[in-house]
Amino acid sequence: MSENNSEIKKIAIFGGTFDPVHIGHKRILRAAGKILGLDRAFIVPAKEPPHKDGIKIASGEDRLEMCRTAFSGLPKAVVSDWELTREGKSYSYDTVVGIKGLFPDAKIYFLMGSDMFMSIDSWHKSEDLLKLCIPVCMPRAGDDKYLLKLKATELGKAMFIDLPPLDISSTRIRELLAEENWGEAEKYLDSRVLAYIRERKLYTRS
Ligand code: ATP
Repeated sequence: MSENNSEIKKIAIFGGTFDPVHIGHKRILRAAGKILGLDRAFIVPAKEPPHKDGIKIASGEDRLEMCRTAFSGLPKAVVSDWELTREGKSYSYDTVVGIKGLFPDAKIYFLMGSDMFMSIDSWHKSEDLLKLCIPVCMPRAGDDKYLLKLKATELGKAMFIDLPPLDISSTRIRELLAEENWGEAEKYLDSRVLAYIRERKLYTRS
């Protein structure tokens, strides 16, 4: 990275499978950028475990490309292939350590939906991870906010951004795409991402 890393004081990491990336993901970045005053946000697509819903999953390259398209309007967002290209298993902990190495003086926020937030204790090296970054939780549909706030208190330095939940997931979108329900799918996808999916015939039934 050629820029002066010491000028970057607040960084967000946003991990996920992004299979496919949807408007709920972009909304998280927008809200976090505004509320936290981020200098940089790294979107890090993960290696994908096989799905069991009978619908084909997209390759790492396709997911990267869709993320690049979806986040192209956000000037501080950088889509990274770190986890996809790393040998062996790819953990969030390793990604955070890598970013901390590049930006030692920056505060690192780890953005996530409430499903990930509630399971954070089971992540690889979670205690070490929590020493390096601040988890930032966004609500999802059907959440019990009391439990989320309790979890944030238990973790100590966690943050909770209280946006009204948006009831959408990549799982639901894959179903819509497999049914060729383009009209419904387009409500949740960047139009260029939907065009890419259709052109490449992604998420058809296997
Ligand atoms: P899937 O249905 O395949 O599990 P997903 O929609 O949860 O996918 P991921 O790529 O797994 O998407 O999610 C990346 C991150 O975005 C996770 O932290 C997840 O909790 C969060 N997230 C995804 N959708 C939403 C949403 N609608 N509201 C809040 N957070 C979300």
